[in-house]
Amino acid sequence: MEEKVAMRMQEYIDEAENALLHTYNRYQVVLEKGEGVYLYDMEGKRYLDFVSGIAVFALGYGNREYNDALKEQIDKIIHTSNYYYNIPAIEAAKKLKKASGMDRVFFTNSGAEAVEGAIKAARKYAYLKDGKTDHEIIAMNHSFHGRTMGALSVTGNPHYREAFEPMIGNIRFADLNDFDSVKANVNDRTCAIILETVQGEGGLYPAEEDFLQKVRKLCDERDILLILDEIQCGMGRTGYLYAWQKFGIRPDIMTTAKALGCGVPVGAFLMTEKVGRNSLKAGDHGTTYGGNPLACAAVSKVLDLYEKEHIPEHVRETGAYLEERLDAFVSEFEVVEARRGVGLMQGLVCQKPAGEFINRAMEKGLILINAGSNIIRFVPPLIITKEHIDEMTGILRECLSEG
Ligand SMILES: *Cc1c(COP(=O)(O)O)cnc(C)c1O
Repeated sequence: MEEKVAMRMQEYIDEAENALLHTYNRYQVVLEKGEGVYLYDMEGKRYLDFVSGIAVFALGYGNREYNDALKEQIDKIIHTSNYYYNIPAIEAAKKLKKASGMDRVFFTNSGAEAVEGAIKAARKYAYLKDGKTDHEIIAMNHSFHGRTMGALSVTGNPHYREAFEPMIGNIRFADLNDFDSVKANVNDRTCAIILETVQGEGGLYPAEEDFLQKVRKLCDERDILLILDEIQCGMGRTGYLYAWQKFGIRPDIMTTAKALGCGVPVGAFLMTEKVGRNSLKAGDHGTTYGGNPLACAAVSKVLDLYEKEHIPEHVRETGAYLEERLDAFVSEFEVVEARRGVGLMQGLVCQKPAGEFINRAMEKGLILINAGSNIIRFVPPLIITKEHIDEMTGILRECLSEG
């Protein structure tokens, strides 16, 4: 009986490899359902999930209130068009505005699309000031902003860009936490500086407070727009709804996605009133699906649940505990070089490919993911408890002990 089910899983995998474009080296598992912080494959094997669909499923799987809100919305209306108003989008925008302290919201379908919108808004802002079309954007080395052409253009990993050149152009790269390198790239054409408040894919590097303050000040002095990409580090993951909120600064434009809809594909770029009034106008930008009633019912319910369940506060507590446990591994194991990250967005830097440990963990029922080749990344559902962290470290210890 068991063998028959196992065959079926392999058959599905074979079918996937016959039909899907092979842009991912996938783990050899077909995931079927989730419950809280656990996932089950189609053979019924249970996995503790420390990836949450890459920082997406913050509230865990099968949250009753969230699921019911979506079902209710499906029975009312799934889609209209942005040529009409819809209640879930109005509710979601109002709540997002209040929680973020930003003034204007544009809903998108993904993170990359939010980055595209942010770039367009910044270029339009500069264009309205001087009528020129040669504006430059400063981005960071090791950054990740998505796979579409605009987002890729500001992604600081040449390997991701090379085959797809030419990029959108007029992008300069500086180093995160090196203010002089940013300053050296500023000139009269600079319209925006874009960075992740905590770099995710690039290796879990948090922007330092002093660096952010200086960049903010430079932007104010030169009327350059500061764009913070909060797609991975936002939505409570660092213990603040948005990571920049810890630093007493505010970006001019910010992007959010991933956990924003907790599984329903949705993102947004937000801006201050000043940028809102002086950038994208009717006809300048649009999307068919972005901000549709189903996606926005998700956003609206997610923001309610964050408030009700005190997610950022919970993350500060559990994040500190996770940090402590991971630091212990740095002292305990030769092969673990360092820990980096904030809150429930952490990485262990290893002396060899992280994939080896991740594969072992998978066999033992723990889902982890890498960031770059040598970093094990931890981006669990935000409802994780200390007990779950202990369960994870128990399995990971076994994997690391095997050398
Ligand atoms: C994931 C991610 C993106 C891209 O989001 P998609 O929804 O995959 O397009 C952009 N920026 C950051 C920081 C991300 O982590």
